[in-house]
Amino acid sequence: MNYKNSLCWIRRDLRLSDHHALYEAIRNSERVTIVFVYDITILENLEDKSDRRVTFIYESLKEVDLKLREMGSALVTLFGDPRNEIPLLAKELSVDAVYCNRDYEPMAKARDETIYNQLQSFGIAFHTFKDQVIFEGLEVVSQAGTSYRKFTPYKNTWLKKLTTQEMISFQPKLINLTPIKQLGKFVKHLSLNKIGFKNKELWLNPGEQAASKRFAAFLKKIDMYDKHRDLPEVDGTSGLSVHLRFGTISIRSLVRAAYKRKTKGAQLWLSELIWRDFYHMILDLNPIVIEETFLPQFKELKWPGTNSHFIAWKKGITGYPIIDAAMRHFNKTGWMHNRLRMIVASFLVKDLLVDWRKGEAYFSRYLLDFDLAANNGGWQWCASTGCDAQPWFRIFNPITQSKRFDCNGKFIRNVLPEIANFSNKDIHFPAGASMKTQKSSGCIIGKNYPKPIVEHAVQRERTLSLFNKSKSHK
Ligand SMILES: Cc1cc2nc3c(=O)[nH]c(=O)nc-3n(C[C@H](O)[C@H](O)[C@H](O)COP(=O)(O)OP(=O)(O)OC[C@H]3O[C@@H](n4cnc5c(N)ncnc54)[C@H](O)[C@@H]3O)c2cc1C
Repeated sequence: MNYKNSLCWIRRDLRLSDHHALYEAIRNSERVTIVFVYDITILENLEDKSDRRVTFIYESLKEVDLKLREMGSALVTLFGDPRNEIPLLAKELSVDAVYCNRDYEPMAKARDETIYNQLQSFGIAFHTFKDQVIFEGLEVVSQAGTSYRKFTPYKNTWLKKLTTQEMISFQPKLINLTPIKQLGKFVKHLSLNKIGFKNKELWLNPGEQAASKRFAAFLKKIDMYDKHRDLPEVDGTSGLSVHLRFGTISIRSLVRAAYKRKTKGAQLWLSELIWRDFYHMILDLNPIVIEETFLPQFKELKWPGTNSHFIAWKKGITGYPIIDAAMRHFNKTGWMHNRLRMIVASFLVKDLLVDWRKGEAYFSRYLLDFDLAANNGGWQWCASTGCDAQPWFRIFNPITQSKRFDCNGKFIRNVLPEIANFSNKDIHFPAGASMKTQKSSGCIIGKNYPKPIVEHAVQRERTLSLFNKSKSHK
């Protein structure tokens, strides 16, 4: 044992199994206390006091606490600025070391740096571990030793480098936990109310057990992933992004299962997990992407889109059913299928010519699975400004996309009952239906459902010219 007393600080890893930092803390310490801090600097910026993500965290922590109590300990929860709270708690508990898993977001890195310095001044060690991703930073590089700018070669090297070591299960033995009696005043119940939030209904169950259940259910259909993953109306994806975001499941456990299953569906799913690593690497090594385009040639591009178009997009009243259904469903649930994220993002940027950063910010406020790296990567991909992004001259046609991926209009009809009576042919663009058809469908365009706010063909040309001009300035 290296230490008498340690603190394991959980952040976006709200689980007790296959947990790298906790595993190391328990292995190296006679006593371990587990703590979570509701970070006031993050929470005070959340405008919606019924934010689903806070409910998800709160409920997931309840499960952690319950499990710890079964083991005779308890979770310490604090509310404040971790830069003060963690060093203070470490001192009060007289710990020798603080353990946690690494976070790659710029603000989190700065926070951890401050805490490291503070702990060092107290003579307390600070140990961080890779847990959120399979490969971090410069672990996957080209032969020249540089980070990749293209996904496919990154993925190939990622797969070549993958060994059992990266997929290892860090299963902590839940022993050596500080007994609840010794934790005394530190164990207090922090209700959602006390931290200024209200409970919000979630569309999925929070916590580690629910994550494992969801994954087990997905494994039964993983082989069909390649066929179903693009269809919003089919439950063909894992729905695990929220659990990955909050670490209620370990990425290693997912990779272990997908890697050994050699079907096309499983391998494609593994590819998505590699995209996740890719975007984390991009953010870690290029934190500037949170403000600027990854591709410098588009840095000065000025988006002429109007605020009224942005509002119509947010509200789902653009007159393009696939966009409106996706946005209204999103506003209600905080969830959007990946194909729909691509379609609505492309529409905002390349049909409405609105700056991708506005869409990114809107998603970041309401997505239950909001993850800075994946969200920024996704938006910059759709806007053609990102690393290995969609080429700028490729512009999704929202009607064609709708016909391809919601061919019978099932998703649209579920969300937009006002246009449900249109035929499968007209549902994707009811404004194109004759007045007679509109009347017989019980929906007059412009009265019961909005007229299209823009014409795709016209906007497409505007976007092409915008990108062309921007490129010719270089
Ligand atoms: C504009 C835009 C914004 C996005 N914002 C986010 C976000 O904030 N948080 C987020 O987790 N994902 C984001 N994505 C990626 C993707 O849409 C979601 O990860 C996916 O829809 C989650 O559903 P799932 O768990 O069923 O995914 P599955 O299809 O089951 O994929 C498994 C896992 O792989 C990862 N993954 C899948 N696709 C991607 C991708 N394109 N990039 C990075 N990781 C991926 C996710 O962790 C996901 O849970 C965004 C994509 C776009 C186009």
